[in-house]
Amino acid sequence: PLTLFDNVTENRISVCVRKRPMNKKESAKGEVDVVTIPNGDIIVLHQPQVRVDMTKFLENQKFRFDYSFDETSNNETVYRFTAQPLVKTIFEQGTATCFAYGQTGSGKTHTMGGDFSGKKQNASLGIYALTARDVFEMVKSPAYRKKDLQVYCAFFEIYGSKCFDLLNDKNSLRVLEDQQQKVQVVGLKEELATCEQDVLDLITKGSLVRTAGTTSANANSSRSHAVFQIILRKEKKLWGKFSLIDLAGNERGQDTRDSDRETRQEGAAINTSLLALKECIRGMARNSTHIPFRQSKLTMVLRDSFMGEKSRTVMISMISPGISSSENTLNTLRYADRVK
Ligand code: ADP
Ligand code: MG
Repeated sequence: PLTLFDNVTENRISVCVRKRPMNKKESAKGEVDVVTIPNGDIIVLHQPQVRVDMTKFLENQKFRFDYSFDETSNNETVYRFTAQPLVKTIFEQGTATCFAYGQTGSGKTHTMGGDFSGKKQNASLGIYALTARDVFEMVKSPAYRKKDLQVYCAFFEIYGSKCFDLLNDKNSLRVLEDQQQKVQVVGLKEELATCEQDVLDLITKGSLVRTAGTTSANANSSRSHAVFQIILRKEKKLWGKFSLIDLAGNERGQDTRDSDRETRQEGAAINTSLLALKECIRGMARNSTHIPFRQSKLTMVLRDSFMGEKSRTVMISMISPGISSSENTLNTLRYADRVK
C-alpha cells in the first residue's frame, strides 16, 4: 500500500476501487461473490460462464487501478491512501477533490459521510470526518499556527440542474460564471468551524437534511450529488479548498425503460453529469487547455478544482460484490478505467 501513497501524492489524478462486503441479506439469499482482489494491484470481475448467444461466452474482466481495496478494508485505511495525502495540497494553497462513485448501495455514503444508526448520523466514521480531523491537526501544527487559517464548511446538493444548500434549509442556489470565468454558487452558506466537533455537527446536520423528506421531488438522495467542502481562508481570502463528493448512483439500466417521466429525466441528468465529469477529469489528467466544465452543473461548480495548477483529484469507485450487481459493477469499473 505504501506505493499507492506515493502514487496519490505524485499524480494529479488517482483512481481507486473499493469493494464492500456482502451484507446479511445477500448472504441469506445465497448471492454469489463475483469480485476478487488477489492483491491491491488487480481486480477481477468473474462473469458467469453463460452463453449470451451461440458463439459468445462472457469472460472474466481484469482491471488495474492505483489501488483496489477489498472487503476487509475499513474507512480509515481507504482514507489513508486516498484523501489523506491530499490534505497537504490545500495547505499549499491548492484545491483537492475526492469523489465517491458507484451504484446505489455500493458504499459511497458509508465511505464519505459515515453511516446512519437509527436516525442518527455517525459522522465520525467517514472520509469527511477523517479529513476534518487532519485539517485541524494541520491548522494547529507549528508550521501553520502562525498563518492563522480559518476553517469553513459548505455542504450542498446538486439535483438535476438545481442546487440546494444543505446547511441552510435546502435553499435553492444559483450557479453563475462571471467575466473572469470564475464560477460562484450564489448565497451558499459557509459555516465557520473552530474544531473537529463543529465539522462533525455540520456533517450530521447536512446529511439529515439531505435524506429527510419523502414528499419533495429531491427526497431520493441516491439521485443527487452531495458536495461537502472544507475551505481554508486567511483574512477572509481563499487559501485552499477540499471538495468531498458523494455522487449520485450511476446505475441507469432501468432509466430508459422507466415509465415515470420524471425518473427518466433524472436519470438523463445524472448520466450527463457523470459523463461530463469523466471528460473533465480526463482533460485534467492530460493537462488539456480545454476542459468542458460547462457541460453540467456538477462540473461547473468544480471548475476551480479542474483548472487550478495545484489541483489534485482522487476517485474512489465503489462496487457491490454480488452477481446480481455485476452489470453495474462492470460499468463502474469501465468508467473508472477511462477516467485516467
Ligand atoms: P450508497 O451511498 O452507495 O448508496 P451506502 O453507503 O448507503 O451506499 O451503503 C449501503 C449499505 O451498505 C449501508 O447499509 C452501509 O452501511 C453498507 N456498507 C457499505 N459499504 C460498507 C462497508 N465497506 N462495510 C460495511 N458496510 C458497508
Ligand atoms: Mg448514498
